[in-house]
Amino acid sequence: MVLIPMKSALLSAFKQIDVEPSRGEGMWLFTEDGDRYLDFYGGHAVALLGNCHPRLTKVLSNQAHTLFFQTNLVPLAIRERAAQRLASFAPQGLANVFFVNSGAEANENALRVSFRATGRKKVAAVAGAFHGRTAAAATITAGHEKWYGFPQKPFEVDFIPFDDINELNNILNSDTAALIFEPVQGVAGARAMSQEFINAARKITSERGIVLIFDEVQCGLGRTGWPFAAQAYGVTPDIITTAKGIAGGFPAGAMLCNDELAKTVTPGALGTTFGGGPLACALIEAVIDTIEELNLLPNVRRLSERIKNEAVVGPITKVQGMGFLLGLHTNIPAAEVLTALRSKKILAGGAADPNIVRLLPPLILEDAHVDALIAALTDI
Ligand code: PLP
Repeated sequence: MVLIPMKSALLSAFKQIDVEPSRGEGMWLFTEDGDRYLDFYGGHAVALLGNCHPRLTKVLSNQAHTLFFQTNLVPLAIRERAAQRLASFAPQGLANVFFVNSGAEANENALRVSFRATGRKKVAAVAGAFHGRTAAAATITAGHEKWYGFPQKPFEVDFIPFDDINELNNILNSDTAALIFEPVQGVAGARAMSQEFINAARKITSERGIVLIFDEVQCGLGRTGWPFAAQAYGVTPDIITTAKGIAGGFPAGAMLCNDELAKTVTPGALGTTFGGGPLACALIEAVIDTIEELNLLPNVRRLSERIKNEAVVGPITKVQGMGFLLGLHTNIPAAEVLTALRSKKILAGGAADPNIVRLLPPLILEDAHVDALIAALTDI
């Protein structure tokens, strides 16, 4: 039989790497040709508990056999439990949850709530930010002109230079509905904001009636070594948005807001078809239960310190970031380091900065995996 090479039916929207995983287990990805890769990328921060975690596969299967889908028009015990669980994991005061399907959608809704609550028209964001690809989320994303693709912007945005408290003070004014930022920037290369900037942001937004939004789509749900980065900094925003690993790999996102903003959300103000579906909610509850029962957050903090202290080897000159959102500065192009790591069967990610390798490993990482990473980097 002659095999005719098949033309892919997928749009060429992604530049893919040459690893095709067919199976995953814990920290490992396996290919059909018998290779196994150590997964320091975690499917772009989504595989929060690693690949095919047995608890998650069981919960998903049980829920699928019990109630596969119902909309937000009917109350669901599992949706209520997931919301309670998420709110109890978040900083106190953010007890009102709206479930969605993705990070961009969580941010769109956070902005919608902010515009409605303040009646103002502008948003402030921070240079280097990534908030998503839908129209509003892209408008507050730095450097989106390359791929924005819509004829116009839905509102005006002011970008504040990274960590610049003077400009924060100058730019925020009585036209600003919301200030949004990632406390630890992901796409920019795992850049953690200073405690001083975050304190100033909380103080100034409170004084000027501006909604403070932490985009914790990438850095939330335990990735910093704390439930949310908000707890790491000891600062409670008015809204947290989160997604990626929240359901361990099943599409899900959420917006959590304080009681004052919650009062402005009346029936019909927000909506979604799939958000808050039973499969996602069962997984959200199981992910948070697992993080707590396995006591994974101290593990994240300890192994993160190990990487920070021991990974400055081979082409790595410095390590930045928090928890398991780490940026390794490279003295050769990061793309070359990533290729070399792949040849040593380790997957990691890039960043907007061409000299940063980004690590986003699952929270179940162990010492032996860190040893393997350091040995591989030393060898490059
Ligand atoms: N916000 C941050 C901080 C992100 O890193 C991302 C995705 O990488 C998004 C928002 C957008 O999330 P999604 O791709 O789920 O829409």
